Amino acid sequence: FPFNKVLVLGLAKSGTAVSKLLNKNGISVVANDLKTSEDDGNVQDLRSLGIDVIVGDHPLELLDEVDAIIKNPGIPYTNVLLEHAVERNVPILTEIELIPYLGVEQVVGITGSNGKTTTTMLIYEMFKVANAKARLAGNIGHVASEVAEQMDDETTMITELSSFQLLGVETFTPKIAVLLNLFEAHLDYHETVENYQNAKANIFKNQTSEEYLVYNADDERVTLRAMSANSTLVPFSRKTSIENGTYCDGKFIYFRGEKVISVDEIALVGEHNLENILAAVSVAKLEGIDNQAIETVLKSFSGVSHRLQFVKELNGRLFYNDSKATNILATSKALSAFKQPTILLAGGLDRGNEFDELVPLMSNVKAMVLFGETSVKLKKLADMCGIDQVKFVDTMDDAVNEAYRLSLRDDVILLSPACASWDQYKTFEERGNMFMESVHKL
Ligand code: ADP
Repeated sequence: FPFNKVLVLGLAKSGTAVSKLLNKNGISVVANDLKTSEDDGNVQDLRSLGIDVIVGDHPLELLDEVDAIIKNPGIPYTNVLLEHAVERNVPILTEIELIPYLGVEQVVGITGSNGKTTTTMLIYEMFKVANAKARLAGNIGHVASEVAEQMDDETTMITELSSFQLLGVETFTPKIAVLLNLFEAHLDYHETVENYQNAKANIFKNQTSEEYLVYNADDERVTLRAMSANSTLVPFSRKTSIENGTYCDGKFIYFRGEKVISVDEIALVGEHNLENILAAVSVAKLEGIDNQAIETVLKSFSGVSHRLQFVKELNGRLFYNDSKATNILATSKALSAFKQPTILLAGGLDRGNEFDELVPLMSNVKAMVLFGETSVKLKKLADMCGIDQVKFVDTMDDAVNEAYRLSLRDDVILLSPACASWDQYKTFEERGNMFMESVHKL
């Protein structure tokens, strides 16, 4: 590891783990967090290990002492300490940069605007069923550097990577990178679409022809980026036949011309999920996983919770929880999965975007129940689509009750908010759980 004294910025889960890890490996650490309080258990814990912890402030003097910063992915580069660090040429890294220093070389990294968790889980399940050694790390599973420390050489790390984690990539090089799709998301953090897409493309920035880039050839933005990669390209498509990658002709999935599985056997629904499957099959085949294991997983895997999850049927109404739909693309995928008249529950954190892109997908939506910061913007969408049944609500119970009142037999009642949850809920999981509870109370 090329640094002797490191400033760890941000003491959430990953910052705490990184501080301990570096400290254990003999690197001097100073940890700094603006929001954590002095009596936080973490602070005491780190201090007891001899780690210097400073909370409540970002003193610029900290930069005099350290030769690198490892920052929490969520802290923007406009942070005052980071701006000064850039001026002084102090390197700023994110946690995934530590992975190679911990001796891990086998990394499958998955990114994209949507479908990361589903694809990551599919790949992980395929490894497990094939008895290939793998560990999940990152957003699902444990902090990547922590997992890396516990792994042996034969184990592959499978990790979902957000644009925040990828923004600061300097040396990180996954053996297989997966780029699913690119969409305008997180504009509050990245400011421009260009910045956001550049960050995602960092996943293959350091790859050479020895590493693979699995990418969605049906997505123009992704394809454009992939053309600049030095990686061995493995495209996937559900539209056009592809020789050097993975392709679905509607009946079978093929990898480099070989038939892998019949589409009839797949449990997951939705065209978007077919893309996630094609990506997962590409990785599994590159890793030498047999068709039998791939088939076993695809026959049984019916989705990750809060992702277009079927909740229940009540008096002919079908309730779906798609709380994970925190942006427009996710909601458009959910809307296109249904042909029935739909009552859409939506709204949440305002990230500054409009919702016009949903207009073409709203033809089945007969009513909308709106909440959160974006409810007025979503009302504009309803007006554009000529939907006159619109209700504004404050609580999830009210949302579900209103939706039921507006519904008829054979309707779909869909929570697919198109927004993050943080204006009203701690997480999208909390929002989805509350939706399901309200549905069960009806
Ligand atoms: P992520 O981890 O990237 O947020 P998830 O797998 O958790 O993605 O899925 C979140 C939501 O995104 C799903 O509920 C679905 O509506 C949508 N989605 C999933 N896969 C795709 C895809 N390949 N393309 C577009 N939308 C998708």
